[in-house]
Amino acid sequence: MARVFVITGPSGVGKGTLIRNLLSRVSGLELSVSATTRKPRPGEEDGVHYHFLTDEQFEERVRDGAFVEHADYSGRRYGTLRSELERRTAGGVPVVLEIEVQGARQVRETLPDAVQVFIVPPSEEALRERLVGRGTDSSDDVERRLKVAEEELTARDEFQYQVVNDRLEDAVEELERIVQSELPTG
Ligand code: ADP
Ligand code: 5GP
Repeated sequence: MARVFVITGPSGVGKGTLIRNLLSRVSGLELSVSATTRKPRPGEEDGVHYHFLTDEQFEERVRDGAFVEHADYSGRRYGTLRSELERRTAGGVPVVLEIEVQGARQVRETLPDAVQVFIVPPSEEALRERLVGRGTDSSDDVERRLKVAEEELTARDEFQYQVVNDRLEDAVEELERIVQSELPTG
C-alpha cells in the first residue's frame, strides 16, 4: 500500500496553505477530499474542497462503515472516506490527509504505518491573527476554534514529526523534506 501522510494541528495554523505548497512540489502526491456537514465557504466547491453532506447523509455513511475516521469539530462533523483513500493507495498513489487531532489519533490506531505530522503555530497570538485574518469564520467560530486549539496543542508530543509554521517558506521546506524522506525514493 502507498504511503499515507496525516497533517494535523489547530485550525488556522496553516495546514491547507502548507499542503497546497507541498502538492505543487512533490509530484504524484494527492490530497484526500474529506466529507463534512459544515456549509461551503464562498469559493468552495463540492467534491473539490470537501464532499458537503447533510447530517443524514453523513450518519448513513458512518453506519455503512464508509469512514476511515470521523470526528465532531466545532459543532460539525468531518471524516475521511475510505473510498477517497483506497482508490489512491491501491493504485500506489501516496495520499495526504488534512484532519484535526481526534481523527489523527484514530488513523494512528487503524493505519499505524501512516506518517503523522503536527503543525505548530509560532504562538497562540499568531494563531488568532491567522484565523481572524483568513476572514472565513464568524467571531464566535474563531473563539470556538481557539478554545479547541488550546486542547489540541497539548497533543503535539504524540506525533512523530512536528513542524513550526513560522516563516511559510521554511515550514514548506521542512515538510517537503519529511515527505520525501518517507517516500520509497527518499
Ligand atoms: P488551516 O488549514 O490550518 O486552517 P490555513 O492554511 O487556512 O490554515 O491558514 C490560515 C491563515 O493563515 C490563512 O489566511 C493563511 O494565508 C495564513 N498563513 C498560513 N501560513 C502562514 C505563515 N507561515 N505566516 C503567516 N500567515 C500564514
Ligand atoms: P474547516 O472547517 O476549517 O475546513 O476544518 C475544520 C477542522 O476539521 C480542521 O482542523 C481540519 O483539518 C479538520 N478536518 C478536515 N477534514 C477532516 C476529516 O476528514 N477528518 C477530520 N477528523 N478532521 C477534518
